[in-house]
Amino acid sequence: MSHLTKKDRIAIRAALDAQRIHLLQGLKSALEESGQTQFAEVLGRTSGDSADEALAETLGNLSAARMDNEVHTLRALEAAYKRLDTPDYGQCEDCGGDIPAARLIANPAATRCVACQGRFEHTHAGQAHGSM
Ligand SMILES: [Zn+2]
Repeated sequence: MSHLTKKDRIAIRAALDAQRIHLLQGLKSALEESGQTQFAEVLGRTSGDSADEALAETLGNLSAARMDNEVHTLRALEAAYKRLDTPDYGQCEDCGGDIPAARLIANPAATRCVACQGRFEHTHAGQAHGSM
């Protein structure tokens, strides 16, 4: 059972839309600047579910480019869209606790509660520097 109300989900979906549009616009202008207008055109057209296949393909091509971070975030948002209507959405993937609605509105792609995310990033950073 999810702790999120219908109202929460509507707010989260709106936040998802806003982040996605912002990210797509950023990618689009970056692509246009680098002359990759064929990708920019696909991104410009993606506003609904029907374009998801084209978007997925474009993202696949883009991952070879220099926009890994943006593409990664965009993929996380796409995944959040799919999870939004499932009971799993809003549950921390580490401890299974409820992720507060306010956190999900600020960061709809969040899959961990604040405590677990902090622990994850700490561990992650530790690994990055641990082999020295
Ligand atoms: Zn947690």
